[in-house]
Amino acid sequence: LQRSGFDAITRLVEGAATIAVCAHTSPDGDALGSELALVELIESVWPEKRVTALLADDDEVPRIYQFLPGAERLVRAVDYHDDPDLFFCVDLSRPDRLSDARAVLERSGGVAVLDHHPADEVTWDAGVVRPDAAAAGVLVAEYALHLGGPLTPTMAQNLLCALVTDTGRFQYQNANGEAFRVASALVDSGASPSDVALHVYQSDRVSYLHLSATVMGRITTFERGRIAYSYATMADLEANAVPVAECDGLVDIVRRVDGCEIALFLKEVPGGKVRGNLRAKSDRDISVVAREMGGGGHPSAAGFTVEGDIDRALAVVLPKLRALYADGGDGR
Ligand code: 5GP
Ligand code: MN
Ligand code: MN
Repeated sequence: LQRSGFDAITRLVEGAATIAVCAHTSPDGDALGSELALVELIESVWPEKRVTALLADDDEVPRIYQFLPGAERLVRAVDYHDDPDLFFCVDLSRPDRLSDARAVLERSGGVAVLDHHPADEVTWDAGVVRPDAAAAGVLVAEYALHLGGPLTPTMAQNLLCALVTDTGRFQYQNANGEAFRVASALVDSGASPSDVALHVYQSDRVSYLHLSATVMGRITTFERGRIAYSYATMADLEANAVPVAECDGLVDIVRRVDGCEIALFLKEVPGGKVRGNLRAKSDRDISVVAREMGGGGHPSAAGFTVEGDIDRALAVVLPKLRALYADGGDGR
């Protein structure tokens, strides 16, 4: 709940000639949509600023997000050689998910943040961090309104994508009244829900659907059906020619299990590591487990990365998930 307010952010922006805007590594729809909208907002209010939209690592923009207005101008952090006056983080507040962009932050003149992840320490010069916001995109929209700037159709489209994806199409626990009110304003400003849905949810490649079928076929439950998990190996990804970055939706297949309260999806990623996605359907806080695993996130959506293969990761994480039920099952 740390905030220094929009006016403090504005003062930092006004004092900067060059600004690098960046979201977290393995960017999702909120990261990319919020970042691109924020870049457009800054440029529309302060046309004289040199603003760069950075990608934290050197991956491609995920295929399903390439339709976002402005996606073609995203620059990989390794290809950015300026020392920006201001480094503007959106959809993250801590440097640990910046990957290559961390070096840019370290050589910048100051740090601003718009984020909705819980943070326990203030590492920025000016920021608004509000964990009850459904998406970072809500805060970018709020900042746009605060500046009295125009909400153009392209900004609105980017921000609607941010909201739709971070709320799981307005189905997760974070889909509050504010999320719907902001979404309504975005649609009034020219965003197209059907266009977002078409690109993000109705453009799966057949090979991805085949991989989904494998993942679905492996779903296993325990703790009387309250925990469900599945996984994909590197071999599965290779057999179906699906890039790791396109696997973000697979945890949603696991969470569909009736009666499951915790969904876990594991996938092998390059470098001998396993990436885990955790989701809670009840109000049980799974971010505790993600943090114990060296990751983090929100109470009902969190992630982590561990060394080793799927079996090793399961051996470490499953006991931690079971321990959440050690009190007999109904404790929080
Ligand atoms: P996902 O499972 O979709 O990758 O991440 C779910 C949520 O947990 C996201 O909001 C993300 O910010 C957070 N998260 C995922 N992985 C990590 C991690 O390794 N470290 C931290 N601090 N947060 C993470
Ligand atoms: Mn995100
Ligand atoms: Mn987010």
